[in-house]
Parts: sequence; C-alpha cells; structure tokens
Amino acid sequence: MARYITGASREQLDLLPPSLDDLIPDDHLVRVIDLYVDSLDLDALGFERARPAATGRPGYHPADMLRLYLYGYLQQIRSSRRLERECQRNIELMWLLNRLTPDFKTIAEFRRKHPRAFRQLCRHFVRFCRDAGWLARREVAIDGSKFGAVASKKRVVSRQALVREEQALNARIDAWLEGLDETDHEEAHRDGPDDDQRRRSLERLKALRDQTRDSRERMERLGIQHHVTGEPEARLMRSPQGSRTAYNLQTAVDTDTHLIVHHETVQDGDDSRQLQPMAEATQTALERGDLSILADAGYSNGEQQQRCEERNLACHIPPRRTVNNQGGGQLYQADAFHYEPARDAYRCPADHWLPLKQRNASQKVLYYANPSACAGCRLKPRCTAGRWRTVTRHQYESAFETSRQRLTEDPKAMTRRRATVEHPFGTLKDTLMGNAGRLLVRGLDKARGEISLAVLAYNLKRLMRHIGAEALMTRLRQAPV
Ligand code: SF4
Repeated sequence: MARYITGASREQLDLLPPSLDDLIPDDHLVRVIDLYVDSLDLDALGFERARPAATGRPGYHPADMLRLYLYGYLQQIRSSRRLERECQRNIELMWLLNRLTPDFKTIAEFRRKHPRAFRQLCRHFVRFCRDAGWLARREVAIDGSKFGAVASKKRVVSRQALVREEQALNARIDAWLEGLDETDHEEAHRDGPDDDQRRRSLERLKALRDQTRDSRERMERLGIQHHVTGEPEARLMRSPQGSRTAYNLQTAVDTDTHLIVHHETVQDGDDSRQLQPMAEATQTALERGDLSILADAGYSNGEQQQRCEERNLACHIPPRRTVNNQGGGQLYQADAFHYEPARDAYRCPADHWLPLKQRNASQKVLYYANPSACAGCRLKPRCTAGRWRTVTRHQYESAFETSRQRLTEDPKAMTRRRATVEHPFGTLKDTLMGNAGRLLVRGLDKARGEISLAVLAYNLKRLMRHIGAEALMTRLRQAPV
C-alpha cells in the first residue's frame, strides 16, 4: 500500500487543546496591529464611542473596528461584506478581535463615520516614526497619482454638452411654440384635449431646459468643465489608462525609509499647483527647517518654487521648457542666450545685449529684444525667421535656474526620485487596495478617509520591513504612540 503524509484525525481529542494564542507566531502582523492600536488614544484622535456611553445598547469598541480595518487593508480585504466573512473563518482575525463577528453594516458604518479620524491617525503615525528617530528627514520625493472614484465615467456631464443640450431644447421649444401658434390660428375657438397635451409637453420641455441651464450656470460659477452625477466632488482626470473619474493623491515620501510622510487627496488633477502646499506641509510634519524636495517636471512652477526656496525647501525639479521650433528647429535655442542679472539683459550669440522690452504681468513673462542689433546681424539666419529675435524669461526664472543647477550637481536625483516615490503607488493600488486603487466610498471626505487607511497600512508594512516587527513591538511596549 502506498504511503502518504497524513494529518491528525479530526475526531482526535487533545488533552490540552491549543489556544488561539498558540496558533499565532510571536512576530506575526496581527500582534503588531494589536499592540499599535492598544497604544493609541482613540478619543483624542476623534473616534466616536472611544469612551463607553452610560446608556443605550453597548456597541463595538472602535479599537476592535480599527484593528479589523488595518488587518483588512494589509490583506487586500476592503469590502465590508468580505470583512464580515473573514471575521467568522479567519483564525488571525479571531485572535485579533477576540472572536468578535460584527456584521457588514456595522463595519461599513465605522469607515463612513471616521474619515477625519483616519487622517489624524496617519499624521500621528508619522509623528511617532519621527519621534522614534526612524526618519532621516533630509530629503523627500513628491508625486501624485489618480485613484478612481466610485462614480463611473458614464456619469460625467461636460459644460459643453450642457450648452449643446440647452440649444437643442431651445430649438425644440421654439418649434413647439410655432406649432402651437399655427394650431391656435387654425382652431381659434376650440380648446381640445390634444391642445392641453401639447401645452403640458411644452411645459416639460421648458422645465428640462431650465434644469440644464441651472446646471450649466452652477458649473460656470464653480469654474469647472465637468460634473460627475452622483459624486459631484469627483473630477474627470487624465491618467495613463485614459481619462477617468478620480481624486488625485499627492504623496511626499522619505527617500531613506520610503515611508509616506505626508499625503493629501485633492480634486485638482494638475500637479503643477501642488508643489508648495505639499512641500510646506511636509516640512511641518517633519519639523525640519531645511529639506530637499525631488519632483518631476509636472511640478515645475516658478512662483511656487520661489516660495519654497524662501522657506529653505531646496527644489530639484526639471523645468518644463518649450523648444524653439521656428526654422525647423535649426535656430538658436534659449540656452544660447545668457542672462546677466546685474544688467537685467541677455547676451546673444553675436555678443549683443538684449534689454527688457516688455512685461506681461498676467502671464508672469518678460520679453527681451534688441531690434536695431538684429537688423544688421550676420547670425540672423541662424537666430530668427522674423525681423528680430525675442527671448522670453519667466518672472521666477531664477528659481528654475537654481533647480537646474542642483540637478546638474546631483545627476542621480531624478533616479532617486523614481525609485522612491513611484513604488508606494504600486503597493497602494495593487497590493493593499487591489482593483487598481478604485475607491469604495463616495465623496471627497470619505475618499480621503479611505486613502488614509490605505496609507497607514502601507506605512505600517513599510516600517516593519525597515526596522523589523520585533523592534517595532519593543518600541510600542516601551513608549506608547
Ligand atoms: S539676430 Fe539679434 S539676437 Fe540673434 S544673434 Fe543676431 S543680434 Fe543677436
């Protein structure tokens, strides 16, 4: 008879049956979560029912619900129904929750009710890491990624589409009115049931037209081009997968530990306006006077870079530059002209000075030119196709130049940026949240809460990898968070 490895009999009774605790290894993830949550002051962080109510039916302790969610996000289990099932069959969760089995409505409600507390918790965790000395606090990389909203792209209404719809409705109303005039003329003294029906249809069309106009006017007042029906706070954003309804998650990641030290979920899909708020908030979170900031060209913004420099935030950002395509791209590019701050003028390849000619305050652009020098210049065919050459300079060009100089001195800065800030998004979207990071809750506030939960799970996982579960548990026992 063939021999196989066999397990113990199901019917076998143990003299000393193992407890749940015996089944969980000493450095297991659930033990870390348990210690971490135990060490928190949930009341101060804004969790409801952190102090038991004197009256009414007892509820679940927020610490247990938080344990459940942290475990869930670390195991790619986000849905409340799946979490409910896991509580009933997963030994790790049985240990973590002392065999509590909350139903999915209670689980979902906890996430819905505490978006602000989750954000507070995230900041609190960064402070804990900072105070423990685990963050080098010398350089961060900033980047953004789009996280899909609940509402699908089919729910997007554009301002242009509303304008077209309004015009079409107006045309239909005019046609109806003309038709009614003719009918009135033909049946001047008769008011039949058909006539009433036509008038009611006309009223419906007018109501629809008014509704469309109101929506368009509201969008104009808010200065938005698109509206997402059912989730008005979501925005249509461009992403590598095409345009989608989403929120833009901005992160600042420590280049040494790869911990997310600050994050913000915003409705603006354009990264170029996020540099200053992100850099300043990171500086505050890290309590650091000077800090190096790495970001890609999408963050290039002269005014914001200038403000950052004034606060000792050293930007390493490649400037976004347009190429001079006139003359088939064969004419001198901007870098052939050298700016002299003392004279506030450019020296051109023919050694002439191009003084400031014009200033466009609204676009923050300065124009430098010397028409008389160009008129007799032998290099003109290589310089311009026009009557003279104009060099444009951004009002905050010096901030671009400082950044460019730093990148020249530190050529690996952009490689470090990529290696630091891009993989947390991959971990968040594919490993922790799954479904490419599509959110489960609607609205900006709740989206922020869900993203904060995922970021906290990422940071916990990252920290365990960085210092080890044992070291983290020792610290949690010694000095509560
Ligand atoms: S064309 Fe004008 S700007 Fe260009 S090299 Fe000659 S003088 Fe200088």
